[in-house]
Formats: sequence, structure tokens, C-alpha cells
Amino acid sequence: MDEVWILVKCICGNSFGSRRSSFSSCPRCGSSKGKTQTEFQSSESLAGAVAASNLPAQISQEVESRIAAEESRRAAVEEKARGGPEAIRRIMRQSTGDDGMLTLETLAVELEKEGYDDPSAEQAIGQAELGGILVRAGPDSWSWL
Ligand SMILES: [Zn+2]
Repeated sequence: MDEVWILVKCICGNSFGSRRSSFSSCPRCGSSKGKTQTEFQSSESLAGAVAASNLPAQISQEVESRIAAEESRRAAVEEKARGGPEAIRRIMRQSTGDDGMLTLETLAVELEKEGYDDPSAEQAIGQAELGGILVRAGPDSWSWL
């Protein structure tokens, strides 16, 4: 005699398989209020359907948490790159004219272009002077050491 298998979708969102003749409660929450979704003639095809109906939720959860982890990692890297001394150094390099001179004005413009208001051009140059990277070459210009 052929057994009929059913795919049950529980109110808790879990899908599980059962014999129709001995419908059981949800293995996850214990509720017996699940609704029969589909009937199958074999336990094998039922097993595949159960896996398929539970899989998408699991996969999307996994993907979501992976994306969240990736985003927070990237944000941390960007944060570091933005405010870090390397970034300021890079902006100072690209503010330097063909004559090798860096002026307060060009640095201020570049910093603003990159979206920085901290440090200011004065602060960045001051730190570079202290660090022995720049030396004052005129009233408003610095050259690289
Ligand atoms: Zn349940």
C-alpha cells in the first residue's frame, strides 16, 4: 500500500515532512498547526522538497551576515585610510606643484576636495613640519625633505 508523504509548512516558518497517516508536530516549535503544502508519493521526493523549502531562509541569513561582516570590515578600512597619516600624506603630495612646493592654499583646496575638514591644512602642514617631512620655504610655501 502506497504511503503518502506531506510537506508541512509550520506557523513558525519551518517546513518539515511527515507521513500523512501520522501527521506529527513541528520538530522546531512543537506546534501541530502547520499547513500541508504538497503531497508526495515517496519519502525521497519529500526529503528534497523539505530541504528546498528550508534552504532559502538559511542561505539568505548566511549571506546577510556575511555581507554585514564584509561591510563593517570595509568601513573600518576606509575609516583608517581616510583619517590616517598616509591619506593626509597622499593629499599633500597631490597638492604639491611642479616646482616641488606645497602651499597652504593648494593643500586647503585639495583637503576640501577630498572631504576633509579635520585636520586643517595648517594642522597637516604643522604635523609634517614636526615630523621632518616638510620644511618652510617661504611665507606660505613648504618643500619636501
Ligand atoms: Zn514550527
